[in-house]
Amino acid sequence: MSEVSANALNALLARVPSVERVLSSAPLEPLIADYGRTRVLAAVRAVLDAWRQSAQASVRAGGSAEPLDETRIAGDVSRALAADAQSRLRTVFNLTGTVLHTNLGRALLPDEAVRAVAAALTQPVNLEFDLAHGSRGDRDDLIDGLICELTGAEAATVVNNNAAAVLLVLSALASKKEVVVSRGELVEIGGAFRIPDIMNRAGAKLREVGTTNRTHLKDYREAIGPRTAMLMKVHCSNYAISGFTKAVELDELAPLAHEHGLPLAVDLGSGSLVDLTQWGLPHEATVRETLEAGADLVTFSGDKLLGGPQAGLIVGRADLIARIKGHPLKRALRVGKLTLAALEPVLRLYRAPEFLRERLTTLRLLTRPAPEMHVCAQRLLPVLQGTLGETYEVSVEPMFSQIGSGALPVDRLPSYGLVVRDAQGRRSGRALCKLEERLREWPRPVLGRIADNALRFDLRCLEAEDEAAFVAQCREQRA
Ligand SMILES: *Cc1c(COP(=O)(O)O)cnc(C)c1O
Repeated sequence: MSEVSANALNALLARVPSVERVLSSAPLEPLIADYGRTRVLAAVRAVLDAWRQSAQASVRAGGSAEPLDETRIAGDVSRALAADAQSRLRTVFNLTGTVLHTNLGRALLPDEAVRAVAAALTQPVNLEFDLAHGSRGDRDDLIDGLICELTGAEAATVVNNNAAAVLLVLSALASKKEVVVSRGELVEIGGAFRIPDIMNRAGAKLREVGTTNRTHLKDYREAIGPRTAMLMKVHCSNYAISGFTKAVELDELAPLAHEHGLPLAVDLGSGSLVDLTQWGLPHEATVRETLEAGADLVTFSGDKLLGGPQAGLIVGRADLIARIKGHPLKRALRVGKLTLAALEPVLRLYRAPEFLRERLTTLRLLTRPAPEMHVCAQRLLPVLQGTLGETYEVSVEPMFSQIGSGALPVDRLPSYGLVVRDAQGRRSGRALCKLEERLREWPRPVLGRIADNALRFDLRCLEAEDEAAFVAQCREQRA
């Protein structure tokens, strides 16, 4: 650095006010009242440090630095504090077209569940307290009766999620023993849930039978030996095998298991409690059907088709559930009061099937008729077009939504949405990615998906209240 610029830099740095002076200056007063002195002090230090560094860099490069005064510091500090105060967990607009989106928190819960969670958060509850006898209770007692009523199971228990449910079943019933599974069912569910790995973690030995596309009853029969603990079937949640295939159905497999005195466990994944075909949705085996077909244990998620909070439900034979509940891992994987508070009202909705479609948020979204999304798209077209400007052309188009979370992977639901393209018809992937990025930076990020040189927003998951919020945000972003 030349002597001149070194002098210039020293002069500049000397003019930077001290942290103490900044803190006691008038513009900082309201910030200290809002955020507290500790946070403001940290922010002031960071702003001053950042300024010193950039001033040094710019003077070294032969340039000059903008002087720093208290008003400017207050502005920078205020912005830094506001950005930092924003919650990391944000609400977003899910216009991806996937209703049960694992990365966006899966099922949205009905108001009944929201109220119950709020009450359990702010007031004491009888989580493990038997009100009838005034003694210690079991948290499962709050909910297992309801689960049994809805599934026809003898007994039930709830853990943190379905992965935990599978881990617990295997640990409690098959540790150091063999579990027979078809090769075609050794699935990987997103986020590192692989049946062979879970099996390993549970200390069980996987005994694969059959081939990827075909497994016969005799494959299972030949695999059963003195070390076999159970037979297991896994729902092929996120893929389908078609063509020359053969799988052994439960009504064939169950008699074989029982002939050898072995339990048959089924990981159903999504696990619907009702027949979805009554609302025009594709058929998915219900938990009740699975038990009736001979499964001794069924595990499924609380936040997939069931439409509740994250949880793993285990239902089936009372003696097996008792062994599962007695395993030490059950304590480690147990659910908290918020989960139970949310799950109970959701399950109660299933008792009045005639209202279910309207009241269970997940089912309402999945069964929303395409014309509803069509008129919504027509209302939103001018709003979004106005916000994005002439560079883009927005249109209303039919599209297909997905159920998501591995349920019914090949079935798609007719929907409508907004499609954004380059107005000049250029096939500019970069510009669309930039736009997609911009919308992700909005106060309530808007998430769509890019396909065929267009940014697509499926409106299935945008119900009335959210539509109003979407419109308000579009108007704000234009101004
Ligand atoms: C989704 C799924 C799981 C994992 O369930 P989580 O509740 O996400 O832990 C396990 N098995 C199958 C077949 C699934 O579809």
